[in-house]
Amino acid sequence: MDDLKFGTRNKRGDWAPTEPASTAPLFELPPRPLALLKWLPHYFFPYNALFFLSALAWWAWVVPDVEVMRTLSWGWVLRLLAVNAVAVFLWYFVFELRLYITRAQGNRFKYNGKFPAEQPSDVFWFKSQNIDNMLRGFLSGVPIWTGLQVLMLWAYANSFGPWLSWADHPLWLAALCLLVPVIHEAHFFMIHRLIHTPFLYKWVHSVHHNSVNPSPWSSLSMHPVEHLLYFSPILYHVLIPSNPVIALFQLHLAGFGAVPGHVGFDKIEVGEDRAVDSHAYIHYLHHKYFEVNYGDGLIPFDRWIGTFHDGSKEAEQRMNERYQRKVERLNARRAAQVAR
Ligand SMILES: [Zn+2]
Ligand SMILES: [Zn+2]
Repeated sequence: MDDLKFGTRNKRGDWAPTEPASTAPLFELPPRPLALLKWLPHYFFPYNALFFLSALAWWAWVVPDVEVMRTLSWGWVLRLLAVNAVAVFLWYFVFELRLYITRAQGNRFKYNGKFPAEQPSDVFWFKSQNIDNMLRGFLSGVPIWTGLQVLMLWAYANSFGPWLSWADHPLWLAALCLLVPVIHEAHFFMIHRLIHTPFLYKWVHSVHHNSVNPSPWSSLSMHPVEHLLYFSPILYHVLIPSNPVIALFQLHLAGFGAVPGHVGFDKIEVGEDRAVDSHAYIHYLHHKYFEVNYGDGLIPFDRWIGTFHDGSKEAEQRMNERYQRKVERLNARRAAQVAR
């Protein structure tokens, strides 16, 4: 595909879409029904539908019987850990293999013209973004993911959570399924804004931001504290009337759903003239500029607090003015401290 029909490439080889990034029309006021209808299929396909199916598959084939889960034991916990690790490896590797190892579409639709493998850096373990990111994902990401999953399943099996059946509460559970991405977005925005406060940024979130040019393995490259915060929405489903399948959906949306946002390409070509949108631009700009786009745009939080960046020159100018005001505020505070 000719990516220059959809965007422009600068001298450094970085590609940017012509269309500015937009937030979903779901929570816009006044409502725009036509835009909402046009957008609605994207809410389901391909990603959210896929992660719902994967949650069903886990419930059917991976999660053990309720009797077994009443007692914590290494057997079923380690089996779950192994299946999660293999699934993460396969899902992440499909993107990595096609886009970063075989480079099947070269740098077409690639936001950053460079590939991480060409940029060794001291900020990464073994100077390699790929090795660093993979190790962090498998050493703490998948174990914490599994730990919270085990906690949820064990709680349900022991009747701690209000477990509703599909037969008795189909409408509420269907509504909750629709809300899972909204819950994810609201939780992600809140914890993300929190870990951008100076202390937590320095000790926790800077690990994730080492990958300025993110690739699939960057998705789970986090400090363990961030892993814990990031995967914790699964536990909401033990607190509210819900069902373990929906809790698994919530978890898979976070764990598997992180990949499209860090894929580094705007579109993933799937044929001569067909491509799937990654919807990664908003989060790519977050990795590039740090203090914009704390959310992924499903709920327009960043528009509401003035930190939205859509990739346009106007947004760039607004961001620079905000930085300038921040520097002035800091300087004024420092001057006041010196004067005291
Ligand atoms: Zn990220
Ligand atoms: Zn961040």
